[in-house]
Amino acid sequence: MDQLRLRDDRLRPVAAKVLAGRRLDRDDGVVIASTADLLGVGRLANLVRERLHGNRTYYNVNRHLNPTNVCVASCGLCAFYVPWKEKDRGWTYTVEEAVDVAARDVDESVSELHIVSGLHPKLKVDYYEELFRALKIRFPWVHLKALTMVELDFLASLSRTTVEEVVDRLKKAGLDSCPGGGAEIFAPRVREQICDHKTSGERWLEVASIVHRLGLKSNCTMLYGHVERAEERVDHLLALRVQQDASGGFQCLIPLAFHPANTELDHLPSTGGRLDLQTIALSRLMLDNVPHLKAYWIMLGEKVAQVAQHFGANDLDGTIHDERITQAAGGSAGTGISRRRLEFLIREADRIPVLRDTLYREIDPSLSGGSSAGSDVASSTADSGPPASVAVS
Ligand code: SF4
Repeated sequence: MDQLRLRDDRLRPVAAKVLAGRRLDRDDGVVIASTADLLGVGRLANLVRERLHGNRTYYNVNRHLNPTNVCVASCGLCAFYVPWKEKDRGWTYTVEEAVDVAARDVDESVSELHIVSGLHPKLKVDYYEELFRALKIRFPWVHLKALTMVELDFLASLSRTTVEEVVDRLKKAGLDSCPGGGAEIFAPRVREQICDHKTSGERWLEVASIVHRLGLKSNCTMLYGHVERAEERVDHLLALRVQQDASGGFQCLIPLAFHPANTELDHLPSTGGRLDLQTIALSRLMLDNVPHLKAYWIMLGEKVAQVAQHFGANDLDGTIHDERITQAAGGSAGTGISRRRLEFLIREADRIPVLRDTLYREIDPSLSGGSSAGSDVASSTADSGPPASVAVS
């Protein structure tokens, strides 16, 4: 206990539980989220991180793909979408165009395509079936991590079927796992302000349970740093923990730092490093049944992501070529980073880089060649922005 050098006495009972490997409760979470002893909670979270993963930090080589940014949900938190009425301002790729966009920087080193979109009222499940089949034909080695719980829920109602049917059809077409977006903060008070037309928190969890029951892994997220309170962050993590106890399919939690630029909430400040690091630590300490915790460099910035590896995080996500969602919200970390740079960010933080696939299986870096997205020199994304809008229907 002494080497934790805690400055807030309220952290002592929390530390006793962490040292004994016991589960923390809501009151513990509120103390962790609200204490001024940032370094104290960092040491506690680091203890758990090193217990789980030693000195290793994972990363992968991946590319994002957003088939459309047209969306009927109009979330106040979002700078990415174009409303349906103004769809000509946005983009909607045909299947062929989406494959061509992916091909700009997918080579044999890329192990994952992260595919998310707006909720487009004309793109039903058959569009995604066709897209996944086409991507698997063109890039058979690439894992397709696609469609958030919100998108799956929307596709089911748009296609007048069940989530079970949607997942089953998409699995047959090539869907390998699901990303964790759309969870935001589950509290209805917050959702009313930031995403009132979107799938509820309760439904998000229900769809996750279906995805896990049908044999797919997924990730989970928490969007913080907007109108939520510390207690609501804690409750969000506890709801994920309950779901994970029941269905067990979450591989990784990604705390997402809110970027207000170009959103309806642009009067709010961006998150500071303190909230970023304290939220990483809180997440690691409360979510004791989700193995991995990501420091998403594209939202945190490279430097905070480095430090986060000592506040509970054990994953930096990936090379992330052609990320558009954070960029639309004024993200300053850029998009597209080389493997060499990612490994530098890990080694300089005194951690050991481990190249992984989407399911956290290690990849031998010497067997992962490539000349663009994963190469030592990051390819420029300056020429890979969205083309002029193309109507699908
Ligand atoms: S956050 Fe997602 S669902 Fe909401 S407006 Fe943006 S793209 Fe649409």
